[in-house]
Amino acid sequence: MRPLRNLTLRSKLIAINGVTIGIVMLMLGGGLAAAEYYLSREAMLSDLQVQARVLAENSNAALAFGDDQAGKEILSALRVAPHVRYAALVTSDNKILASYRRDPGEAFSPPSIPVNRVHLLSAGGIDVFEDVIASGRRLGVLHLSADLSLLNERLAGYLVALLLIAALALTVAIGMVRRLQASITGPLVNLARVTRELSKDKDFSVRVPVASKDEIGELAAGFNDMLAQIQSRESDLARELQERRRAEERLHLLAHYDTVTRLTNRHYFNERLRLAVERAARFDEPMAAVFLDLDNFKIVNDTLGHPVGDGVLQEVAKRLTGVLRTGDTVSRIGGDEFALILENVKHAASAAAVVRKCVQVLTEPMNIQGHELFVSASAGFSLCPNDATDIQQLLQNADTAMYHAKARGKNTFQAYSAELKGEVVRRHTIETTLRRALERNELSLVFQPQVDLSTRTIVGAEALLRWENPEMGTLMPIDFIPIAEESGLIVLIGHWALRRACAQAKAWSMAGYRIRVAVNLSPRQFRTDDLVERTLSILADSGLEPDLLELELTEGALMDASEDTLSKVRKLREAGVHLAIDDFGTGYSSLSYLKHLPITAIKIDQAFVRGLPEKTQESAIVRAIIAMARSMGLTVTAEGVENQEQTRFLVRYGCTLAQGHLFGRPSDGTIFTALLESPDPFAFLRPIIERDRLRGLTDTTPSGSYFVP
Ligand code: C2E
Ligand code: MG
Ligand code: MG
Repeated sequence: MRPLRNLTLRSKLIAINGVTIGIVMLMLGGGLAAAEYYLSREAMLSDLQVQARVLAENSNAALAFGDDQAGKEILSALRVAPHVRYAALVTSDNKILASYRRDPGEAFSPPSIPVNRVHLLSAGGIDVFEDVIASGRRLGVLHLSADLSLLNERLAGYLVALLLIAALALTVAIGMVRRLQASITGPLVNLARVTRELSKDKDFSVRVPVASKDEIGELAAGFNDMLAQIQSRESDLARELQERRRAEERLHLLAHYDTVTRLTNRHYFNERLRLAVERAARFDEPMAAVFLDLDNFKIVNDTLGHPVGDGVLQEVAKRLTGVLRTGDTVSRIGGDEFALILENVKHAASAAAVVRKCVQVLTEPMNIQGHELFVSASAGFSLCPNDATDIQQLLQNADTAMYHAKARGKNTFQAYSAELKGEVVRRHTIETTLRRALERNELSLVFQPQVDLSTRTIVGAEALLRWENPEMGTLMPIDFIPIAEESGLIVLIGHWALRRACAQAKAWSMAGYRIRVAVNLSPRQFRTDDLVERTLSILADSGLEPDLLELELTEGALMDASEDTLSKVRKLREAGVHLAIDDFGTGYSSLSYLKHLPITAIKIDQAFVRGLPEKTQESAIVRAIIAMARSMGLTVTAEGVENQEQTRFLVRYGCTLAQGHLFGRPSDGTIFTALLESPDPFAFLRPIIERDRLRGLTDTTPSGSYFVP
């Protein structure tokens, strides 16, 4: 069976069929030949016996008389029987009376006569013995011996013919088997070929042709079904894999990148920083960690919407990336916070140069979706290993430095130094002490006069907070208002200031000085739900006329343009309260937007007034603000007026009110009352006003484009 194993199915089938057919043919042929031989021999035997009987009957006389001649004659009749080769008449005493030989030359020795005279069969011949009987007496025996060679020859011929027929039949059969097996093995061969291709090409779209409806056909159809299933599962799997890969990529992106700016995120920044700090320590290559925070970004976002806000962030990212060297890292680590790693900076000065460039490049105007925006940033940095060798400390230092840059008036940067640390501690102390400041009565209000430039009289007073702390001394609003804002304490403080300011104004009004008190309202305070109710109830409690109260709001507080803002402003105005925009010109408000708000006054930020009259840009801005405010019927107050030149400029271009050190520093109620009582405190204004009046230039349309000092 072993050689079969290596054959193809086709050859196996042919071999099995061939062998089967061969065996059947051989058995059939052999059986036929054997039967033929047996039957022929039987026929011959019975022929011999008949012949022997006839001859025996004819020979009794010859035997009875011992006539050998007659015996011979009788036996010679056997010449017509070709297969008889020997015959003999044997007397009862076993003597041969007469004999016959077909071929006298043949050496043939007859067998002895068996006692019972039964015939003898051998491969070579048949011997029959017949008693010769006369009148009931046995006279002798007739012996006939036939030769089987003729029969054998015929049998051999017969066998040869049989073999030829068998060979022919086998050939025909194998030819037919070959042809028939193709219908069985053909599909199997196809199946095998497809399987081979599959395992090689992994192409599950191939199919096996289904040629028949038999088991192989079923097998092929089943195979195809299986392939279809694998193919669909394969494509499902591929799709799933692709989706997973995409999800993983996205996760990686989310994990390391900021989706808005495409910069790396805080997570990535921290990783990079860790490596940078390690490298700095190991190779003694100093590096700097920088924090950069956009100033007033929240206003842009709240006023112009998130798409513009995103645009600003993208522009900032682009500009910062442009400034940095390859190898440096810039990440967006929060809403409007960016963090940078500057590697291999030799000393603080070179880090400062890069950070300065970063801040500078952001001051260039940005054009985002049709809006021209001025964004600035405050930055702080700390060096490793000079300032800190530990990541947390380094970050904290950079944060402290940035906080200081902001406190110093924004749009600037600050390097970390040990002194700054003291500031941080101080800030923390302020936060915890401020809570108790109200209860301990440490807060107070000071008042700064607002003067009508044409009449030289005080028409208003801005109430400003002071904090007198036993340990820290006098604190200015800049020291604690931002902290109060952050902690929410500003709301309570604001109520207190409003109550105090109203009480003071009421007292002045009772004393005959009808001056309007201006109270600052922080954005946080403005956003409280009960702002209007609270304000009006404090006002009512104080008994002050609403017309004598002005609330100062910053542009940032008003700029979200929400229905809520609008309704608050409207309700306050309807109640008779005046509303002023403080620090006008530093935010992003357009006067056209302010038109929709029922505000009554605008306060020009002192930064612009400071530049008067020399600085052309500031001068132009101030003139434009005055002109526009007047055209809208708003009162204009110039803040931070410190000298006569500024006053002259303001008078010339039609600014009605002024506030600043020139007219009085913020002072407590008593000192302020004394100022009110003094006869002509601003007599110095007289020549200015007179001169301009004489020149007839007090008409302040900005068309007068020249300025004569
Ligand atoms: P502001 O409302 O713009 O107040 C004007 C500031 O300019 C005051 O500073 C005032 O002292 C100062 N100033 C007045 N005249 C001159 C001048 O001629 N030259 C210079 N260089 N400065 C002048 P102050 O009192 O330190 O207040 C700073 C800021 O703190 C205020 O700015 C205001 O925004 C805030 N603030 C003060 N009091 C309150 C308050 O009661 N509530 C709230 N929410 N904020 C307050
Ligand atoms: Mg103010
Ligand atoms: Mg102001």
